[in-house]
Amino acid sequence: MSEFVQPPQSTVTNCTAQDYEAAYARSLSDPDVFWLEHAQRLDWITPPTKGGEWSYDPVEIAWFADGTLNLCHNAVDRHLADKADKTALIFEPNDPDGEVRTLTYAQLHAEVVRMANALKAMGVTRGARVTLYMPMVVEGVVAMLACARIGAVHSVVFGGFSPEALAGRIIDCDSEFVITADEGRRGNKPIPLKVSVDAAVDEHDTRVKGVLVVKHTGADVAMKDGRDHWYADLASDGDCPCEPMNAEDPLFILYTSGSTGKPKGLLHTTGGYGVWTATTFHYVFDHQPDDIFWCSADIGWITGHSYVTYGPLLNGASQVIFEGVPNYPDHGRFWQVVEKHKVSIFYTAPTAIRALMREGDDFVTAHDRSSLRLLGTVGEPINPEAWRWYHRVVGEGRCPVVDTWWQTETGGVMLTTLPGAHAMKPGSAGLPFFGVQPQLVDAEGQMLEGAAEGNLCITSSWPGQARTIYGDHDRFVQTYFSTYKGKYFTSDGCQRDAQGYYRITGRVDDVINVSGHRMGTAEVESALVLHPKVSEAAVVAFPHDIKGQGIYCYVTLNAGLEGSDDLAAELRQQVRKEIGPVATPDRIHFTDDLPKTRSGKIMRRILRKIAENDHGSLGDTSTLADPSLVDRLIEGRVDG
Ligand code: ATP
Ligand code: MG
Repeated sequence: MSEFVQPPQSTVTNCTAQDYEAAYARSLSDPDVFWLEHAQRLDWITPPTKGGEWSYDPVEIAWFADGTLNLCHNAVDRHLADKADKTALIFEPNDPDGEVRTLTYAQLHAEVVRMANALKAMGVTRGARVTLYMPMVVEGVVAMLACARIGAVHSVVFGGFSPEALAGRIIDCDSEFVITADEGRRGNKPIPLKVSVDAAVDEHDTRVKGVLVVKHTGADVAMKDGRDHWYADLASDGDCPCEPMNAEDPLFILYTSGSTGKPKGLLHTTGGYGVWTATTFHYVFDHQPDDIFWCSADIGWITGHSYVTYGPLLNGASQVIFEGVPNYPDHGRFWQVVEKHKVSIFYTAPTAIRALMREGDDFVTAHDRSSLRLLGTVGEPINPEAWRWYHRVVGEGRCPVVDTWWQTETGGVMLTTLPGAHAMKPGSAGLPFFGVQPQLVDAEGQMLEGAAEGNLCITSSWPGQARTIYGDHDRFVQTYFSTYKGKYFTSDGCQRDAQGYYRITGRVDDVINVSGHRMGTAEVESALVLHPKVSEAAVVAFPHDIKGQGIYCYVTLNAGLEGSDDLAAELRQQVRKEIGPVATPDRIHFTDDLPKTRSGKIMRRILRKIAENDHGSLGDTSTLADPSLVDRLIEGRVDG
């Protein structure tokens, strides 16, 4: 068992290995009783008497359906009784010399009420969708909570997305309201958020009638009369009670990167999501009252929803909100923030760890990290070498590392070890969280037992599960429950070892992950094909030393046209404009054709191998419509 790393003896823990065994067994044998107990982590207006009521065929999912509650009350108001003066948020700005802003729970409450009143003044009502396009500032979290307070449904769009991507997400959920800031700051560049909102709303067919603008950098921005409002002008302190919500009322919509085409707006509801994030935060991060928690994810991603806004605040935690990036002003910034705010629990993504590892240990050791007691990662598989560096150098070998596997669809952590309780295995997420029933199946859906590798499914529902794709339940059923009938299919490949530890091997299909920003190949392809000279495009990832993955684009042009450096530059520009700078293609390969099956589907597997320069193992090419194309593609491969 030498690949296992034992947890340090001294770790405080909310759950021992024996506790885990007993609780996990009970969560499967008696799920309703188990989860109704954990539902008591929250304050309910009407406590639920029902646990899970769900079916995967047909697909209908509900938890705690007769309960009533408000998650803003749970994240903020209820802490006023005993934690009014406890720190809730510590805002660390992009610029290390900028002003730190600390909010106690009482101050957070006041700010959320002001924002909720501003939303009401703008005309936001219960059930309305509100799109957030925000920098990582206090008001981002406040705006999410204010929506929850008045029963509005937030849809946060990452501030790095282009106006086109933003418009698509506004239109998809028919949102009439946007909350944004004048500008954001990330590293040495300002992010023109308001300008992008204007482009999204003015140049596309949206129904947006109210835009609330938070003054952040003080940049001069255009304000449209009657539509745009400064937050400070609409904010007011008057009473704003929390709206009683049914457990199954929508809390938020969040779009995934959309590997299979149009982004999917996953819908999460109030009670189950609240119970799931509150419970997972408590156990996975072994949260103690004096901890200073820091999750470096942006609120534009599910990690920022579950482990910045909801999980920590539902638990009354103190946490850092960081506006900046890991490499500005230098590669020691994360560790400087850890030292400055005495962070005890730190949660980040493998791409950040890999990027910082490249820069050497000195940036880490220059800062005092003695406050750290627990480290976590999420977002993609972490290679054992990076895991060991994180554990040994960043955590000085003292801190357990939790490698947490989960998805936008799962609402919160699904596979992990529990800190202090379980031995860790670098590269493996670990064991199922309470109530999670993983199953590995082969391509035909046959269940695999014992140590095995296959496609990861989950066979029963858990409270934090997404309920549907907003406005398209058929697509929800098709995407997740039709590959293997009666099971939730994660789309991830996975190995299980003899100890029952799960290791994610990657997507069964393909998605590109550039520096932690995920995007679907189809989204990039659609952007390329918009160019009048392009007839078809196929996009795959290739390994990139810094970004984790780079973007390799195969492009066919309309008849009679030839590729050129100028055209490649135009295409890069086009993708930047459509999706955002993170999607900028690294390599553009003009080709006269794309490899397709006889039924007309592009064979990405082959394109990926060629992009990776691994054509010794192309696999079966016999189903190709034109097998001779492969040699031409290999010859034309673009390198660097
Ligand atoms: P889309 O569904 O549109 O393709 P996405 O899957 O990238 O987008 P997320 O829900 O943010 O969007 O990511 C979840 C995926 O990230 C998982 O399915 C898995 O592939 C990967 N992932 C997350 N955490 C881990 C982890 N700890 N180890 C390995 N892979 C992980
Ligand atoms: Mg996914």
